[in-house]
Amino acid sequence: MPNSYDPDQIIRPEILALSAYHVPPATGMIKLDAMENPYMLPTVLRDEIAQLVVNAPINRYPDASASSLKVSLRNALEIPDNMDVMLGNGSDEIIQIIALIVAKPDAVLMSVEPAFVMFRMIATFANLQYVGVPLKDDFTLDLDAMLSAIVKHKPAVIFLAYPNNPTGNLFDADAILKIIQVAPGIVVIDEAYHAFADTSLMDKLVQYPNLLLMRTLSKLGLAGLRLGLLVGRSEWLIQLEKMRLPYNVGIMTQLIAETVLSRTDVLLEQANIIKAERAKMYRRLAVLNGIQVFPSDANFILFRVYGASEVFEALKQRGILIKNLDGTHPLLVNCLRVTVGTPEENTQFCETLQTILSETV
Ligand SMILES: *Cc1c(COP(=O)(O)O)cnc(C)c1O
Repeated sequence: MPNSYDPDQIIRPEILALSAYHVPPATGMIKLDAMENPYMLPTVLRDEIAQLVVNAPINRYPDASASSLKVSLRNALEIPDNMDVMLGNGSDEIIQIIALIVAKPDAVLMSVEPAFVMFRMIATFANLQYVGVPLKDDFTLDLDAMLSAIVKHKPAVIFLAYPNNPTGNLFDADAILKIIQVAPGIVVIDEAYHAFADTSLMDKLVQYPNLLLMRTLSKLGLAGLRLGLLVGRSEWLIQLEKMRLPYNVGIMTQLIAETVLSRTDVLLEQANIIKAERAKMYRRLAVLNGIQVFPSDANFILFRVYGASEVFEALKQRGILIKNLDGTHPLLVNCLRVTVGTPEENTQFCETLQTILSETV
């Protein structure tokens, strides 16, 4: 036995080359970097959750099929009766399960750029080739480029977030449907921000045999629970279920999610407040000098500002954490992304940004 081991000799080179998904420390800061819902649940509901915790049989494995929770999800999210549902430990896990079942040698996972970074990272985890088709300058879909990339690379799976992260916009629905029609494999529509957009492709599932639709409770106010779901035809979901680890959704997540879903009015009310705040924040940012603000159908706003990295650091120094996207993609030069928080947080963010911008000019 050798007395020392070299990870570089053992571990796949593409993993050695990756940098880990970075979650910056945020203790004590105004946290507007991760698209979290800033509101707690009402006290009554939290008391109800406390009782669930007291009585939960945590000595037992959770219900592996989570059947009771699935019934609640079907009602709350208006999932068509003729479609199956698979649950994940967040939708990140569902992306991984999908990637793993299609990972034949040389198979391709396709998305757009810029998009949700986990699409690319998970492609690498699963040993898939990743192809990212650039969006246009205004972050709309480049349909011609997509269609020729599909012909060229024959992707096993295409992921499109609707609305897109980090840009916040909804792609043209007809362009998406065209992509679904010509795709030789699965197309997954990731509706993580559905609560903040006024549209969905859920009703297209019946029409398109290669379409799968993903949602998550994370952006709706339950990011800490980790629950995502995939909706689609049983032909696909039966296969995907084989790859899902049996107890991926814990008992507390199942019980708490079911209870909170009995009060979707609370979650939707919070989403509506966030949407109204988004509009206010957009207007406030748009009038600042030297800033370009992009319209958003999600719970965050992307904007471009000269010297973005310095602005980002100055905000951080004043206790406000947002996301710096400068340098992550050519289309995102000098771009920052801010999550819509509480009215107080948003005011503080806008005022601090204004101060910083007036100091630097
Ligand atoms: C945040 C986000 C997710 C991840 O959600 P989880 O359910 O928390 O894993 C998935 N897709 C997109 C586009 C996101 O922005």
